[in-house]
Amino acid sequence: MSHIIHRSFRNAPATAVSGQGVTLRDSLGREYLDGSSGAAVSILGHGHPDVIAAMHAQIDRLNYAHTSFFTTEIAEELADELIRSAPQGLSDVYFVSGGSEAVEAALKMTRQYFLEIGQPQRTKFIARRQSYHGNTLGALAVGGNESRRMPYAPILIPVTHVSACYPYRDLHANETDLQYGQRLAGELEATILREGPESVMAFIIETVGGATAGVLTPVPGYLRAVREVLDRHGVLLILDEVMCGMGRTGTLYASEQEGVVPDLVTIAKGLGGGYQPIGAVLVQRKIVEAMSKGSGSFLHGHTYIGHPVACAAALAVQRVIQRDGLVQRVRENGTAFGTMLREQLADHPHVGDIRGRGLFWGIEFVSDRSTKAPFDPSLQIHAVLKKTAMKNGLLCYPMGGTIDGKRGDHVVLAPPYIATLDELQQIASRLATSVNEVLKSAATATSPVAA
Ligand code: PLP
Repeated sequence: MSHIIHRSFRNAPATAVSGQGVTLRDSLGREYLDGSSGAAVSILGHGHPDVIAAMHAQIDRLNYAHTSFFTTEIAEELADELIRSAPQGLSDVYFVSGGSEAVEAALKMTRQYFLEIGQPQRTKFIARRQSYHGNTLGALAVGGNESRRMPYAPILIPVTHVSACYPYRDLHANETDLQYGQRLAGELEATILREGPESVMAFIIETVGGATAGVLTPVPGYLRAVREVLDRHGVLLILDEVMCGMGRTGTLYASEQEGVVPDLVTIAKGLGGGYQPIGAVLVQRKIVEAMSKGSGSFLHGHTYIGHPVACAAALAVQRVIQRDGLVQRVRENGTAFGTMLREQLADHPHVGDIRGRGLFWGIEFVSDRSTKAPFDPSLQIHAVLKKTAMKNGLLCYPMGGTIDGKRGDHVVLAPPYIATLDELQQIASRLATSVNEVLKSAATATSPVAA
């Protein structure tokens, strides 16, 4: 009998006992290929000797020092490294312990910025439907996944949500990707005007949508058009790269491929690669200057910010990424992985869309390809797929509610950057085997289309 409140009260999780490279093992001796790096976390796989050595060295030197008394060499080094490799314009770092904390800090820093520059009337955030920004109350409020928000809606700050960039479902007939992006930017501007431009603080979005929408890549020109709209109205751009950042899409920051620099960007998962809990917000100088000239501090803080062992792990992860050319490898192997997924699954009668960038791929399932109708949510296709894939020795990251928080099923694949082409092929094959198993029975249950 476990005393842990696990994720589900109905299904006891397997017990993980060891991990090496892209493989995890459980207490029954079963092995799993980590096709999703957990939840896009373990970018260097498991048991990386360089990261472990850096953590050991840091623990031996200094395990912890509270940031109200001290800074540490390792935190300073990590901050220097992050700013050195960040898009031009980002100049300062605030450390936290995970993605939700990074989003909370970004939201609060945005509010403080407007107070400091004499615009206290700016109080509103705009975000996108189908987004995920974390589970703390502020992050959940800006998040656009209806089923996650619903239980807590009465206690969330009010946030206005606009459309996601979701061409598979929302691109009009006879509309180009470019026109679609402009239409979305127009919707954003209309929303800002309706809310009152002087009252809006920031627009927060995942540069590449992740967990709740199944990897939504922005159409060309969309983010640049968004940036222009925001600049016209003095509204800040917060990019949430907790999942898509740190090389996952083939550039260290996903925004590099869009030609925009955010005012604030959140990172987490790949920053520590699962070796330690760590996240960060990187911001532009004007924000730090406003706080420095005004209150003299960021009116925020947690006990574990800038934890030395977490910083040591993250710095080691960054150094391995650079030394081993892993961002370049993500680009190259990512293209190959996309081809593998398409070869295995593009013709499947229940695969509606295969989309992604780098080593970050989403597959959306439908009951009927011609109408794009989703499966009946009661079938819980995503949950069955997760279980079946584990039985077949694969960890992947499926979720339901792709379309509107209730309907739709997808799976996210986000292999460790160190995965070999052979391992990527095995991930694609085990996924295809699992999809075939699950959707054959689902098809006979709900649809005349046989799998
Ligand atoms: N933001 C994004 C884009 C995420 O994908 C996640 C987690 O999946 C979070 C924030 C929250 O991060 P955490 O679970 O570390 O709090």
